[in-house]
Amino acid sequence: METRTHINSGIYKIKGKVQNYDWGGKSFIPNLIKKKNSTDNNFAEYWLGAHAKAPSIIDTEKGSMNLDLFLNENPTENLGLKVANSFKKLPFLFKVLDVHKMLSIQVHPTKEAAKIGFELENEKGILLTDSNRNYKDKNHKPEVMVALGDFWLLHGFLERSKIIKNLSETKELNFLLPVFLEEGYLELYKKVMQFTQEEVNVILKPLVKRILPKFLNDGIEKSSPEYWAAKAIQNNNFDTIDRGIFSIYFFNILNLSKGEAIFQDAGVPHAYLEGKNIELMANSDNVLRGGLTTKHIDVDELLKHTKFEETIPKILKGTSSKDNGETVYKTTADDFELSKIDLEKTVKHNSISNSVEILLLLKGSATVTQNDEITHLEKGQSVFIRPNTAYKIETETTVEIYKASVPES
Ligand SMILES: [Zn+2]
Repeated sequence: METRTHINSGIYKIKGKVQNYDWGGKSFIPNLIKKKNSTDNNFAEYWLGAHAKAPSIIDTEKGSMNLDLFLNENPTENLGLKVANSFKKLPFLFKVLDVHKMLSIQVHPTKEAAKIGFELENEKGILLTDSNRNYKDKNHKPEVMVALGDFWLLHGFLERSKIIKNLSETKELNFLLPVFLEEGYLELYKKVMQFTQEEVNVILKPLVKRILPKFLNDGIEKSSPEYWAAKAIQNNNFDTIDRGIFSIYFFNILNLSKGEAIFQDAGVPHAYLEGKNIELMANSDNVLRGGLTTKHIDVDELLKHTKFEETIPKILKGTSSKDNGETVYKTTADDFELSKIDLEKTVKHNSISNSVEILLLLKGSATVTQNDEITHLEKGQSVFIRPNTAYKIETETTVEIYKASVPES
């Protein structure tokens, strides 16, 4: 059982918050966090963090409270001096995602661009709650995600030869080939993003009508843009065909296996298509959308912040340390670091947190021990760990734990 003998405990249980977006699945997240889904809701995301929109609840010596308020009471002790000084708050947001329907194509701005954009929209008097507001805060939003099983996403522009192949092999898009050959990535993308809805319908209707029967007969592989283009139209109608369908033919379609990760930095267009993942990102809501959505698209702003160049996908396998079961997925982001801890009876995890940490147990059960204080963790449960806390994780089964922290340098 849990004991709380120390006033200055380093380890606290926390509970996250669910986001019920319509693209989410109905059973994975409810099963994980043992929550009944009696109203047949879509459970898209489970958030662990201190984001003002949905802060986690922390179980303290004084009772339960919002994690953001808890952190604010003593930022230096709770976040560590370095993080408290450079970020002022928890720099990351940790999530579980269950992607059932495709998400919108999006690009995130750099920190510098977000600051300028945020202030400009404030000056223009665009409210934070307005649907045409692009910048919700002054921060960048790099993201790293690790697949919990087969995961599909769009990630950056294809290399030149592959775009040429797609445009040549898709007769309805043949007319775009000279644009790409003569003018390159930016002009190709700009052209399709600036078509009127009428033009989009005229161009894409024959394409969609051709591929939809094949899709419905399970005749298309998921590695083909036709599969996702057909899937996109299913959520749509023929009067407002989504222009994001063009992009499916321009971007890398990636298939990650369990334990593989990918990092998305500012400017790289991406969209999650299908599967379950653990995602760790900077604490921001700044999203510029580019299709596969009914939400606001600001084409000029999107074009300003997109990198118009090929992306050769770098799938991260992580760096593993056998003696403590931890696999770290290194990225260039200084806001966060994601790792996976796989333990069994003979493999224990000994650690001293060098930053603030959040652990989420996905499979099995374990105990987290700090001095003589034991916290039991079951599937779907999480703990918040203060910096400089020495702790040990042990299990009698096999466990899979995901960890969010802040990198040292
Ligand atoms: Zn994103």
